[in-house]
Amino acid sequence: MSRVDTDAYYILEPEEGALEAPVFFDSPHSGKTYPDDFKYQVPFSELHQAEDAFVDEMYEAAPKHGCRLLAAKFPRSYIDANRNEHDFDPREFVGEWTGHTPNPTVKTRNGEGLIWLRMNWTQEIYAGKLTVEDLKHRIDTYWRPYHAQMVDGIDRLVEKFGYAYHINCHSMPNVGLQGDPSGSKPRADFVLGDRDGTTCEPGFTDTIKRFLEDSGYSVLVNDPYKGVELVDRYSDPAKGRHSLQLEINRRLYMDEQSGEKIAGFTPLKDTIAALIPHVVDYAKSKA
Ligand SMILES: [Zn+2]
Repeated sequence: MSRVDTDAYYILEPEEGALEAPVFFDSPHSGKTYPDDFKYQVPFSELHQAEDAFVDEMYEAAPKHGCRLLAAKFPRSYIDANRNEHDFDPREFVGEWTGHTPNPTVKTRNGEGLIWLRMNWTQEIYAGKLTVEDLKHRIDTYWRPYHAQMVDGIDRLVEKFGYAYHINCHSMPNVGLQGDPSGSKPRADFVLGDRDGTTCEPGFTDTIKRFLEDSGYSVLVNDPYKGVELVDRYSDPAKGRHSLQLEINRRLYMDEQSGEKIAGFTPLKDTIAALIPHVVDYAKSKA
């Protein structure tokens, strides 16, 4: 396995001799390198709960099966790779924004747009306003390089195989926020998101769902997470580009308060290590 490192991300490349497979993995939210200019005021014990902790580590067997794994190094609370780069409100930043046209969504209104401004929708992350220069710096230095690798990772598979399967790797809190329209009941072990069947062919979602259920886990599809920017932006099933968001319930592998791994981490990682060749076989069968 070889590893490529930049400030924004790292890539694990397939091991020498391993057949390259038409499957690409990305972990946009597991980054935990907090940049020096990230001047947050919330306690770190709360801020770090935005991380999809250890998710990149969970998939580190990918190169052994001929797949590339892309992982963000920057934390999602600094700039969110799983948001559209237009998803911000310039009025929330000091200075005049002169770049691309903003298009704030409900994510921005909840404080969880491209740049998160609030934790849990209510708690201000910063003591004052960020500047438009801060915003531009984060987009140019972190968001765009990450997305450039998304494009490259999928395009190179389409060039070589004529199609690509992409798994967008995440983890989720066990319960939603109070007032969350998705509900505050405990979540399934895994939630697969294909944006109601629009980001991949149904067999891809089904084969992963069945594998995880056969491994003893509960699985829901598009409930409550349907997938966001990354699976939407890079999928085009009619052109052989299939993307699926895979959310793992954090209660299976970590203490959500302390951020420490628990005993369940190892069996879960073993399940993921077995899921990867299953997905590779499935993807290869589509040649
Ligand atoms: Zn995530």
